[in-house]
Amino acid sequence: MKKVTILLPAYNEEASFPILEQCMQRVLNENPGYEWEFLMVNDGSSDNTLQQMARLHQEDPAHWNYINLSRNYGKELAMMAGFDYAKGDAMIIMDFDMQHPVDVIPEMLHWWEEGYDDVYATRQGSTETWFKRKSSQLYYRLLQMFTRVPIQKDTGDFRLLDRSCIEALKQMREVERNTKGMYSWIGFRKKGVFYQQQERQAGASKWSNRALLNLALNGIMAYTTAPLRLASFLGLVVSLCAFLYLIYIIIVTNLYGDPVAGYPTVMVTVLFLGGAQLICIGVIGEYLARVFNESKHRPGYFISSYNGLKDGVKK
Ligand code: UDP
Ligand code: MG
Repeated sequence: MKKVTILLPAYNEEASFPILEQCMQRVLNENPGYEWEFLMVNDGSSDNTLQQMARLHQEDPAHWNYINLSRNYGKELAMMAGFDYAKGDAMIIMDFDMQHPVDVIPEMLHWWEEGYDDVYATRQGSTETWFKRKSSQLYYRLLQMFTRVPIQKDTGDFRLLDRSCIEALKQMREVERNTKGMYSWIGFRKKGVFYQQQERQAGASKWSNRALLNLALNGIMAYTTAPLRLASFLGLVVSLCAFLYLIYIIIVTNLYGDPVAGYPTVMVTVLFLGGAQLICIGVIGEYLARVFNESKHRPGYFISSYNGLKDGVKK
């Protein structure tokens, strides 16, 4: 029988356990043709998430496994830990709060059996606020403009990945991650299915606006060097404008004897150039910061225990 892992990263999700258990029980009942592993990753929660995970593993060790990270690393790295420990021939990534409906799973499995390696779920009719929806729409459009790799719109981490995709993703060890772009980058046969985003039933969202902005920036910086080119382009435009203005001044002064006002012209030039330079330095700085972080070659995460055991930790 083929084994499928459901990967469930969790940060302070103790309130989500009742609905999670209910949903996973449904998965077991409705898909008896597969062996199931529910792999939970505790991302440094400060509530009773870890105790609840231990309880589930104790009650049913055949299905429930859990990784305990040494601190809060963020969802992207928690997922990376999950890739390393998943045992399945395929993996489905889901949010712990079950905003991703389990009804889609049979359809995902169907396409996987048809030979697709990455069955991604696209949101339909989102319950997010207008601002969050519009900004994410704009962001995807912008990102797509910059890169040749096709990026799926309204698609997050909710997807089924074949073992071949998992092995590919495991080799991508960068720490400043935006996994959404990686799914596209690795290629493989892709197929989209649709789902209705559910309301969060329990607990609160763990993504602050700052964390979201950070993720968005990582997405751009990690997948394209277009902003660097933009900086050069901006520099070129500014110099060209300045040059044309210079010619204009020479002509007006010599032909018409027009005394060009000195102070405003100097100020405009200086401020314009200064601003352009600051932007360009900022862009270079953003990339440099990423090079700096990656060049330390630190592992993305550390694990305290696997299924409660210290010696279960992979080397
Ligand atoms: N999450 C995590 N580490 C974090 C933040 C979030 O593992 O530092 C998990 C969280 O437990 C959930 C998923 O990422 O399973 C999505 O988070 P959330 O539901 O808070 O985000 P939203 O649905 O509001 O975008
Ligand atoms: Mg959520």
